[in-house]
Amino acid sequence: MLLIRLFVQSVVKSMGDKQHSEEVIMLKIGCHLSASKGYLNMGQEAWSIDANTFQFFTRNPRGGKAKDLDHDDIAAFLKFAEEHNFAPILAHAPYTLNPCAKDDRVREFAFEVMADDLRRLSYTPDSYYNFHPGSHVGQGIERGIELISELLNVILPENPGPMVLLETMSGKGSEVGSRFEELREIIDRTDLQDRVGVCLDTCHVNDAGYDIVNDLDGVLNEFDQIIGLQRLKAIHVNDSKNPFGSHKDRHEKIGDGTLGFTAIERVINHPKLRDLPFYLETPNELDGYAKEIAELRKVYIIHD
Ligand code: FE
Ligand code: FE
Ligand code: ZN
Repeated sequence: MLLIRLFVQSVVKSMGDKQHSEEVIMLKIGCHLSASKGYLNMGQEAWSIDANTFQFFTRNPRGGKAKDLDHDDIAAFLKFAEEHNFAPILAHAPYTLNPCAKDDRVREFAFEVMADDLRRLSYTPDSYYNFHPGSHVGQGIERGIELISELLNVILPENPGPMVLLETMSGKGSEVGSRFEELREIIDRTDLQDRVGVCLDTCHVNDAGYDIVNDLDGVLNEFDQIIGLQRLKAIHVNDSKNPFGSHKDRHEKIGDGTLGFTAIERVINHPKLRDLPFYLETPNELDGYAKEIAELRKVYIIHD
């Protein structure tokens, strides 16, 4: 099995710039990268560690203004991504984006940022926009859900752009989206449902109390019944520093936390998940990510 995998990877590599390998099944995996040097740089950095996608913040994670778009850089990246058969890239909204804040000014900021981010992402069509549904800060889950879908009902029709992904949350503080039912209700209340998907974060669901270590099938069945697996578009692959159901949200390196390597190996190989893109958000620098990607590629089962 390992030999087949190494062979397939060397074929993909040797096909080099011209390869379009629909028939070669490859793990789609990348990690969070800094956007400070632009898109092409992120693409090259990803490729240098054997990744074929990546995640990045659309702007400083604490908020603030995004850099002006460099259209030459985007064109160069799109060419690079096509030549290297990249999976969709994942843009992550800043943490300060809170669509269900109590404060009007904070909610206005969420509207402005999401609209601007989607406009910018319309230049990289093979992408997703991931965001944290938000924290209701004492207004209650129901009010939070209402405000989040109100935002989507204004922003999505006005801004073509990519599909937005609601991230599954750990439920720390007053976070909305730690239960599949909450995500389902946000989607139900949204007019343009075709534009809304879900990104499942393995650390967050563990911390939220979904037992993907001992009952991955059960959790995925529940996801399917409540949200629908066809809405699941991306996976954040992280181990967790905290116990099951702790509602904490602190990521750990793959294999060093509560989930452990075997549980994560099962996630990337699960028939219902294995074709999705996986994004690492583990506490690492580039070399640490390279190591995790190599380890996960090693255990990814390639079928004929
Ligand atoms: Fe996130
Ligand atoms: Fe995440
Ligand atoms: Zn997290």
